[in-house]
Amino acid sequence: MNLCKVHGVKINLHWSWWLVAVLLTSGLSAGFFPHFFPGLTTTYYFLLGISSVILLFLSVLLHELSHTFVAQESGVVVDSITLFFFGGVSNIQTEDLGARTEFMLSLAGPLMSFFLGYLFWITNYFSGTLWLTAITFYLYQINFLLAVFNLVPAYPLDGGRVFRAVLHNITHNLERSTKIASNIGKIFAIILIFYGVLLSIFGVNGLWFMFLGIFLYFVSGSSYDHLLFKRVLEKWDMAHVYEVPETVEDMSVYDLLRYGEPGMVYRLNNKLFLPSLTKGMSVDAQKLMQASNFLVAFSELPLASKHDTVYDVYRRMMEKNAQVAVYGKNIVRRRRIEQAVKDYADYKLMP
Ligand SMILES: [Zn+2]
Repeated sequence: MNLCKVHGVKINLHWSWWLVAVLLTSGLSAGFFPHFFPGLTTTYYFLLGISSVILLFLSVLLHELSHTFVAQESGVVVDSITLFFFGGVSNIQTEDLGARTEFMLSLAGPLMSFFLGYLFWITNYFSGTLWLTAITFYLYQINFLLAVFNLVPAYPLDGGRVFRAVLHNITHNLERSTKIASNIGKIFAIILIFYGVLLSIFGVNGLWFMFLGIFLYFVSGSSYDHLLFKRVLEKWDMAHVYEVPETVEDMSVYDLLRYGEPGMVYRLNNKLFLPSLTKGMSVDAQKLMQASNFLVAFSELPLASKHDTVYDVYRRMMEKNAQVAVYGKNIVRRRRIEQAVKDYADYKLMP
């Protein structure tokens, strides 16, 4: 959901925020506040819960905006921010920021959380009203927790980005640095999940740790894959991935699918036979139908030119949901690109 625009940056709220906001409000009103501040009314607890959640939201927003402002100071374009419950994801146009910029940019968020933590802590110390004392008591702790959690050197958390920037500075290899930081992220995620399970076995609620762990596990893998993909494909031109489709005579779909390697594209009647078009056909139907019924004209497929990088073409294929692109009289297959990146990664990055 689009919330508003600050400094030209779109602020989006991830749908899970609402779920967590409801869970957190009820958790605070029914558990946290009654435990630390007993003897108040249910309404009062509810008000404490809801004002804490609103201020937590603002704290997370300020954390994320401080990343954004440092990025903009360094001339990096930030499109949008998506807010999750414990942090956000900034959509930055350039992936390779340079070690120094990334270091500063990543540190800004946790520093803001520390600052907010101190601010709430001081307010708590001097507060004269129960309401203010109660909410700042929660908010200084949660902000310190946010700062510390985000500083864990697990990519893509802020600390992981700082760690990656340091590695990048030493190794001068962004892919390798990301791989290491991302693996530490996965290990940390697994530890969180196990810790959550362990707590639950001993009768303590470990659900939050499990949630965080699962979330972190998936983002640490996917952001690395994305980076690797982009970095590798941007360096390659068509010569790396194009294939010359073999010209064949018309035959049954059954025979053509078993003619060469699975997944191959053939040239037939000056058009292309794409195996994906026959997906889900029964063997009987494959034997009955001629391959010439499943042809696509060259002009119907996304085009690749010699000025394109493989990344450009891959993106075009993803956008049009096409498995094949046309390069002159040749073709480029998505499956082949994916395999080539995988081979490259196995060869280059295996320890
Ligand atoms: Zn952050």
